[in-house]
Amino acid sequence: MELSKLDVTLRRGPDGLHLFERTTGLNILFDEISPPPTTWSSAPRNVAIALTNACDLSCSYCYAEKSIAALDINEVKGWLRELDSNGCLGIGFGGGEPTLYRGLPEICRYAAANTRMAVSLTTHGHRLTNELLDALSGSIHFLRVSVDGVGNTYERLRGRSFGALRERLLTLRDFVSFGINYVVNADTFPDLDAAIELAEEAGATEFLLLPEVRPASLLGGTIPSLAALASWVDKHRRKIRVSISEYGARELPTCNPLPGDTGLRAYAFVSASGILKRSSFDHKGIQITKDGILVALGQLNLMGEDRVL
Ligand code: SF4
Repeated sequence: MELSKLDVTLRRGPDGLHLFERTTGLNILFDEISPPPTTWSSAPRNVAIALTNACDLSCSYCYAEKSIAALDINEVKGWLRELDSNGCLGIGFGGGEPTLYRGLPEICRYAAANTRMAVSLTTHGHRLTNELLDALSGSIHFLRVSVDGVGNTYERLRGRSFGALRERLLTLRDFVSFGINYVVNADTFPDLDAAIELAEEAGATEFLLLPEVRPASLLGGTIPSLAALASWVDKHRRKIRVSISEYGARELPTCNPLPGDTGLRAYAFVSASGILKRSSFDHKGIQITKDGILVALGQLNLMGEDRVL
């Protein structure tokens, strides 16, 4: 494939010159090149945007804000332009449940047509009709479906039919490349093997482990322990790519090719109220004003860390 025909973008940072192409997912790091700090890309490498707080499920471990809020689509378009022109490589739309956001196909189309960023979407999957998938076709590069436990565990936790979800998963690859997001807690840990088998059967390309994060008031150990999860990962020998959230990666031997691109250089989160944070778990953030998301990012950087974890 000719490089000129691909959606190639370049990011400069402490680890070198990073070339990224969103359609193929190609990443090349030229680490023999050391861009001067004054030229480093100023946007985070990835930004997650909660389009709405609305959700039709009520999972007990949900950390989404419970206030009613949804982002103005024109504001989001402006942030996307800013992020794209400042070296952001990927944008992830979520919520709440993003399929309840009226402008979802429009904002995905806009991001795909007007930026070079990879567009992903995280959903519970129960509203993914063929019509919606057709409307999103060509506008999202990766879909993440949240599947916490299988069978009775899933139905108890999510209050929805596991059979219906399974049926949808088994046809999803015809529409889009997708992965499974799996919250790991005491309820779902025993189902890990069955869930990853389903992911492989459905043709998912990634299985993302998300050890449950609890509010600071309940901290005292996410259950099961990260050591138990590390042991499961160690025994896991499958073809599907397994990845893990930054929180869970503390205990696991992960591969990180960009050790210098950390903190706000790596990731930021925008809530459905338009507040920019270091992560969805953080208490503090900066309200994004008409001055734009990069100005808010500079202010958040000055504020320092205030992590729940
Ligand atoms: S589906 Fe997601 S957003 Fe909705 S209640 Fe469950 S965890 Fe929260």
